Amino acid sequence: MAVALICVASSGCASFPTTRAEGGKPWLLVEGPHINLLSNQDEEDAREEAAQLELWWQAMAQAFPIAAPAASPAKVTALAVRSRWQANGVHPSIKGVFMGTSSAQLLYVGDPGDDEGEKITRHELGHAFIHARLRNVPRWLDEGLAKYLETASYDPAAGSVTWGGLHANTVREMAFGSRPGVSAITSDEWSAGLYGLLTFRAGILVHMLVNQHEAELDCYLAALSSGAPRQDTFAGCFPSAPKWNFEMDDYELNMEFSTRSSTVMLNVPPLSLSSPSDAQVHTWLAVLDVGLSRMVEKQFRSPYVDRYRGSLERALALDPTDPFAVATAVSELELEPARRSELTLGVVRAYPSDWRAWRLRAATPGLARPEAERACQEMSKLAPEGLDDTELSPCSRD
Ligand SMILES: [Zn+2]
Repeated sequence: MAVALICVASSGCASFPTTRAEGGKPWLLVEGPHINLLSNQDEEDAREEAAQLELWWQAMAQAFPIAAPAASPAKVTALAVRSRWQANGVHPSIKGVFMGTSSAQLLYVGDPGDDEGEKITRHELGHAFIHARLRNVPRWLDEGLAKYLETASYDPAAGSVTWGGLHANTVREMAFGSRPGVSAITSDEWSAGLYGLLTFRAGILVHMLVNQHEAELDCYLAALSSGAPRQDTFAGCFPSAPKWNFEMDDYELNMEFSTRSSTVMLNVPPLSLSSPSDAQVHTWLAVLDVGLSRMVEKQFRSPYVDRYRGSLERALALDPTDPFAVATAVSELELEPARRSELTLGVVRAYPSDWRAWRLRAATPGLARPEAERACQEMSKLAPEGLDDTELSPCSRD
């Protein structure tokens, strides 16, 4: 009780989310067509959050500049904590993030029920939407498009989605400050200190391309959605690029920025509710900490590393054959070779008809060659058609 009272009075109060077995609230998995929400909120709040994310996803499909179907079958897992107190326990200032790797697509929703938090969530959801469609998307386009998509809003009364709103005053004010040019915006290297400013500038550049060079942007996005290499595509698709610096100078002085809208009724899709295992919850919390440990500066890294190690060991203690827990542990913990091998063997024994279990087995470092080959053969028999070599790695179909 004393702890609760101290927390009301202090802004520095924080507590990392826990599972039911550790005395926390139960976690729920709310599955929609695009997003699986994992949350320890109360059921009604979790459902509302999942419905909101699905509606924003549909609104973004209207706002996305080309009609590109999702290329990746992987669903996004959104992890939403129940309170600001817990969000502070995760990280004092990072309240939303999207992490996309070949094994996990994680959207962290760290500021429930707050306007600023909502904007962050929409921006990060935008990244998830982009990554489901475009491969090897360069940073400037990833950030610029996420800025564009975060504006997508749905008005249920009017039955319309509107997007593209840029605050003319903010853009003009920013134009008086430091204005990194197009070569800095489109560079592969963004310094951490300029990240926010470059994201803002990329947002203006993408807005300008959508409205003034639509066909060129279409060409580039279509190339990325088909997985074409980006080095040659940039120059090929964007003949106007040499003039962008001058164009942006004018564009920023616009008195208003055009928005677009489409009349469309969006519906909350069917959502199904279940209880995730504690092992799964610990693993997703670990994936979040792995991502955070890479985002924070070196001197702040160790608490996140300690925390994800602890979460993964707890997950393995609860379910040593959970495929996701084992895959994450094998890639993120420095395990003894014998333990790694024992864990992946446990997974194929528990899930002999799951091709991903065999892929995980095949990727076990130090595995004897005949055994690795056998694992690849099993994987090859079971894996669905149409997967590319990265998805099948370390095996291949040849
Ligand atoms: Zn971003």
